[in-house]
Amino acid sequence: MSGESLRDVAEKARSNAYAPYSSFHVGAALRSATGNVYGGANVENASFGVGICAERSALVTAVTAGDRNFDELVLVSDATEPAAPCGACRQALSEFAPALRIVSHGLNGKTAEWSLAELLPHQFKLDEQNRFTE
Ligand SMILES: [Zn+2]
Repeated sequence: MSGESLRDVAEKARSNAYAPYSSFHVGAALRSATGNVYGGANVENASFGVGICAERSALVTAVTAGDRNFDELVLVSDATEPAAPCGACRQALSEFAPALRIVSHGLNGKTAEWSLAELLPHQFKLDEQNRFTE
């Protein structure tokens, strides 16, 4: 991505967030193991449950483009403190990258880092026969 940092991509995505109901704008940048970077923004809807978070927005864009292995996710939001992904996004990301590194920047200038395994220690998984597995 021509000199753009993951944070730059996340900031650009946040500027495109559609959040007329919560006014909470989030941008994400998801980097694949091959170095491709995908931006995502939260997109709300009048039917609240239909909205999608920035993290899953980036994920579906990446998977649609053919990438399924990821090593880092960078988040920016309107939160003062660095915001962690919601539970739904943790589960969605764990399908593809259980060891994902997550970096979040708060408006207060602080940065937080986690591994996805740390944020979601017991992901929901199915085996080849679609039976729950540990
Ligand atoms: Zn989420």
